[in-house]
Amino acid sequence: MGIGARLNWLRAGVLGANDGIVSIATLVVGVAGATASVGALATAGVAGLVGGAISMALGEYVSVSSQRDSEKALIAKERHELTEMPEEELAELTQLYRARGLSAETASRVAEELTAHDALAAHLEVELHIDPNDLVNPWHAALSSALSFTIGALLPLLAILLTPAEVRVPVTFAVVLLALAVTGTISAKVGSSRVGRAVTRLIVGGGLALLVTWLLGTLLGATGVF
Ligand SMILES: [Zn+2]
Repeated sequence: MGIGARLNWLRAGVLGANDGIVSIATLVVGVAGATASVGALATAGVAGLVGGAISMALGEYVSVSSQRDSEKALIAKERHELTEMPEEELAELTQLYRARGLSAETASRVAEELTAHDALAAHLEVELHIDPNDLVNPWHAALSSALSFTIGALLPLLAILLTPAEVRVPVTFAVVLLALAVTGTISAKVGSSRVGRAVTRLIVGGGLALLVTWLLGTLLGATGVF
């Protein structure tokens, strides 16, 4: 796997973890605003975790599958063109190398040698930028996004279930903000952007989401309707 592909996996993993952290934290903090029942917290948290992980996996499976289908269609079309009109395809490859800055002579030599070696691979690389050995498996993508969501979700879930009732909510707030600082730092490093800005955005956004759902839960709990 190339470095670009590896960075994409890392980026997807961090995004999945962020989703798990924020969605499950807001869920359990909202419930904790309404009730002190550990049973209710555990039920809501576990249901949210499982539902969220499945939804992430499904979304990822569908999106990677359709991307893969279109890549496979392009590969089939290219293979067909190479058998039907090899002359035109050679000229096309030569032209692509000329456009990259090679002289006419060098471009035609490179195109001829690559065509003799593996014409399809050469066209896929230069023309379509596809590496047929590097197509993402939709099952892998689905599994890894469900896994990263679950890892993220476990942080607020364990924080709220394992701490005494009086400090439950503040401890969960702290754990979530700390976790978001870590994921924000990783994603900023991966995207080589400024760490401070990425972390601030995540912490402000996540903190606001927690505050809103906790207040909402407290209000709903105080009405006594439920
Ligand atoms: Zn071609």
